[in-house]
Amino acid sequence: MTSAAPQPLANPLSYLNGEWKPLGECLVPINTHALQYGTGCFEGIRGYWSGTRLNLLLLRQHFARLHRNAGMLLMSCPSVDEMIAIARDCVARNAPTQNVYLRPVVFKRGTSLGPVLVNVADGYMCYLQALGDYLDTSKGLNVCVSSWRRLADNAIPTRSKATGGYLNSALAKSEAVLNGFDEAIFLNDRNQVCEGSAENIFLVRDGVLVTPDRTADILEGITRQAILQLAQDLGIPVQERAVARTELYHADEIFLTGTGCQVSWVKSIDKRQVGAGARGPLTAKIQTAYENAVYGREPTYAEWLTAV
Ligand code: PMP
Repeated sequence: MTSAAPQPLANPLSYLNGEWKPLGECLVPINTHALQYGTGCFEGIRGYWSGTRLNLLLLRQHFARLHRNAGMLLMSCPSVDEMIAIARDCVARNAPTQNVYLRPVVFKRGTSLGPVLVNVADGYMCYLQALGDYLDTSKGLNVCVSSWRRLADNAIPTRSKATGGYLNSALAKSEAVLNGFDEAIFLNDRNQVCEGSAENIFLVRDGVLVTPDRTADILEGITRQAILQLAQDLGIPVQERAVARTELYHADEIFLTGTGCQVSWVKSIDKRQVGAGARGPLTAKIQTAYENAVYGREPTYAEWLTAV
């Protein structure tokens, strides 16, 4: 599933608070609330270049999640339809001919002092960049269980995809990279397996696909949901349930999913080989089905794609 190395898009036209400008001219004051306190929530959306058009993946699902999260965080944002229109416009204005990644953000644009979500003005931005592979999807990943705990739902809800919450991800990912691993796996505050720094996790145990359920302090990944649908359509049994740490060391296969990483298989966890140390058969089936769907080769999933 490795895609061509991306060519950076020079200063793409971007949307900020009602105006379109080159990215480098989209500026906010240094005392912006979101910069000071991490008060924002965001999405990451992939656009796949088919050779003739750009197909945005699961667009409505991403903006529906963003809209719900903005509401939870007491931020107002454009409607789902308006955000979809801005995203489409962003692609049309820049007319990329390669795979891209869209980044819409709802944020507190006010400049008042103090961490509070009420009585601070809201802003909205949407920009895009070129993006190839986020993690290498062909080569197996060497991952570790992080010494950092996942944020608890009653502290900073991971479900919210809040900008400030990504410090937790950054700490785990940095520790992993500094220790020579590709990615970190979080446990939550109940010591259950949670997710990667920016990916959901799936295990295969005795032919069953297992993934932590929605109450495990995970982000409810759009890709995770797509994979659950593919698995169901492929007749693969699925369990969404609490996953114990040591199940990772017993798994026949492990893979990570996300808009960025797509479907990336895990070769080792905490220096223990996963299964045969190669991409497993269920992972291969799912990775191929996902790739066919996102590149528009499988009519069953045509509704996942919005062509621009
Ligand atoms: N978990 C976290 C913490 C993430 O940041 C992401 C990436 N958005 C995911 C899971 C995967 O989510 P999605 O499939 O919606 O990209």
